[in-house]
Amino acid sequence: MEENKKMDLELINVSKSFQTKNGEIQALSPVNMTIPDGTFLTILGPSGCGKSTLIRIIAGLETATTGEVRIGDKKVEGPGADRGMVFQSYTLFPWLNVEQNIAFGLELKGVPKAEIRDKVDEYLEYIGLKNFRYHFPEQLSGGMKQRVAIARALINDPKILLMDEPFGALDAQTRIIMQEVLQDIWQKTKKTVIFITHDVDEAVFLGDQVFVMTAMPGTLKHIEPVTFARPRKFELKMQMDFMQTSSKLLEMIREESFKALR
Ligand code: ADP
Repeated sequence: MEENKKMDLELINVSKSFQTKNGEIQALSPVNMTIPDGTFLTILGPSGCGKSTLIRIIAGLETATTGEVRIGDKKVEGPGADRGMVFQSYTLFPWLNVEQNIAFGLELKGVPKAEIRDKVDEYLEYIGLKNFRYHFPEQLSGGMKQRVAIARALINDPKILLMDEPFGALDAQTRIIMQEVLQDIWQKTKKTVIFITHDVDEAVFLGDQVFVMTAMPGTLKHIEPVTFARPRKFELKMQMDFMQTSSKLLEMIREESFKALR
């Protein structure tokens, strides 16, 4: 049945170079990886190593120079409804309220009004913003806006949620709360999530696997499986084995960042 079909995400020999005035920039060396359906994959790497380029290729916003991206048995040829995106900058429509922002994709598809209302209610519940449905983006905090952005992406029922530093602009406390909120939503929806972050603790806290990239041109340096039981709570970050994993990955990134400076 289509519903139950496995939708593993496969990166096959994916590389990218950009042609610029000053010559060719190799942004990404070939990446090969299979990400099983339902995985929460976090991506860490030094600045400029090609993280955004990789996620943009998966999104279909950028074409790979070599290789291909496959979702199940389908090759990615451009953006599609099977992939939702959440960026660092707030991308809500300022002229629409919370409810209308979340409903936007379903309205476009012509889904019946009653069904839209039920779904919006369900997602408002997930993100804890039931009392803010008529607020406009300018009346919301950064964390609230990102919750709306997550709901807006998920309500279209994508197979994969692509998140490029979604919490990068949030203060430290809000960020910690958002990590738990996102984990909760993910456990309810069981999407594949690809999540870029600069924050090593965030990567370990959220990920089933952490994909560590080399300095530019980026490629896979290391994959760290993370097996802490879920739902993970903030206190986990104080545990010795969590801290050991984090510092091991931090050391890898430090090493790569120094390479990039040389
Ligand atoms: P990261 O997200 O890891 O910081 P990016 O994927 O944004 O890295 O960028 C990787 C490299 O590719 C950088 O050197 C960046 O300057 C270069 N790059 C990204 N997009 C373009 C583009 N459209 N044209 C030219 N160079 C680009």
